[in-house]
Amino acid sequence: MDFEFSDEQQAFVKDVERFLDEHDDPDIFDVTRENMAQIVDTPKRRAFMAEVGEQGWLGITWPKEYGGQEGEGVYEYLLNEQLAGRGGPQIGKGVGIIGKTLIHHGSEKLKAEFLPKILRNEVEFAVGYSEPDAGSDAASMKLKATRDGDGWRLNGQKVWTTSAHFAEWYWLGARTDPDDKHGGITLFLVPLDQPGITIKGMWTMGDERTNEVFIDDVFVHDDYVVGEVGKGFQYISQALDLERFTMFTFSPIKQRLDLLVEYVRTTVRDGVPLKDDPVVRQRIARLVADAETARVLGLRFVAESMKGGAPPTTHASEYKLFATELSKRLASESMDIAGPGSALRVRTEEAPMAGRAESTYRYTVIDTIGGGTSEVQKNIIARRKLGLPKNF
Ligand SMILES: Cc1cc2nc3c(=O)[nH]c(=O)nc-3n(C[C@H](O)[C@H](O)[C@H](O)COP(=O)(O)OP(=O)(O)OC[C@H]3O[C@@H](n4cnc5c(N)ncnc54)[C@H](O)[C@@H]3O)c2cc1C
Repeated sequence: MDFEFSDEQQAFVKDVERFLDEHDDPDIFDVTRENMAQIVDTPKRRAFMAEVGEQGWLGITWPKEYGGQEGEGVYEYLLNEQLAGRGGPQIGKGVGIIGKTLIHHGSEKLKAEFLPKILRNEVEFAVGYSEPDAGSDAASMKLKATRDGDGWRLNGQKVWTTSAHFAEWYWLGARTDPDDKHGGITLFLVPLDQPGITIKGMWTMGDERTNEVFIDDVFVHDDYVVGEVGKGFQYISQALDLERFTMFTFSPIKQRLDLLVEYVRTTVRDGVPLKDDPVVRQRIARLVADAETARVLGLRFVAESMKGGAPPTTHASEYKLFATELSKRLASESMDIAGPGSALRVRTEEAPMAGRAESTYRYTVIDTIGGGTSEVQKNIIARRKLGLPKNF
């Protein structure tokens, strides 16, 4: 078994590193935004991603007929890991969830309208699955789509819609059949800037914004139904496997672990270097070993997904569960090891690790919820990998 990258893959990483060095800008790259650094929410970040698109890197894995390069999934992984390691915006919803679903299931009209714009980074999307009574169990969504002439009329509420306050389009799951739980959900593409859509900000404990979205009598033409009516839940489930992997990158874990190791290496407490404290040494060793496990679980997902077919569900869940729980533990260990000073706010220069432990501590909790909670990942592994009975 070979866990090393090929010469060609390493050369690609060098190209990306060079490109990122040339575009180094604190308004684009900010590791203190933690996992939310991935969203493309400012004009500067949009312009940067458009340049990433000009390199041909946005559609690196897309088929050539849609403007892609038909590259192996490992290149998208390598690109995203480089971007994430610097706290930069990443390939996410547009290329991954929306683009890949449209390529497989979208009409020619939707492909022609959206795919070129995604590759040039000219459009941002928000994803609306969760509702007040439908989070882990997304198939319980109630937002109602009622047949009206040559389209559908939408009414209801979504919650936790990240990016809705700056995105142009809403990738929205709605109930087209109240009597069929899974087969009664359809995916729609809806412009966000229109009467009938109200967006209200919700701030997370990680300082970043997500949103409630209220939909009041919004008409959507049949042309903007994604794929087949009633197949929405199937498309959502496939895309969620990708989301679980692409949105929770490994590089930030490595970056925070390096920060902690450097802190331990250079700090003396009560006259004793921290690096000589046996308890601290044990804790660091455990974190380093676990980080390697997370890295390899990620590589295993990449290797499995390159075999073709549907994204490997249990591999995505194993990676998401292990990596995000490790992130949380790493933050907790950083707080413990650095002591009371670690409670100082992020960007406090005199705080241990300039306050990173504090922001990571708050933020990593969120990572174990978004994209499906840790309990949900455990259920998926229990059912699909171990064949255990369903609990809901
Ligand atoms: C920062 C952030 C951004 C998000 N962005 C988006 C977005 O852009 N679009 C979107 O659609 N959603 C988004 N979400 C929503 C996210 O997907 C949901 O929060 C998540 O699926 C959990 O749903 P819930 O919050 O309703 O919790 P619930 O489903 O109510 O769960 C509550 C608790 O019960 C546990 N639980 C639930 N069911 C089971 C079960 N069967 N077995 C064991 N335990 C269970 C859960 O693990 C959790 O601990 C975001 C969430 C966050 C925090």
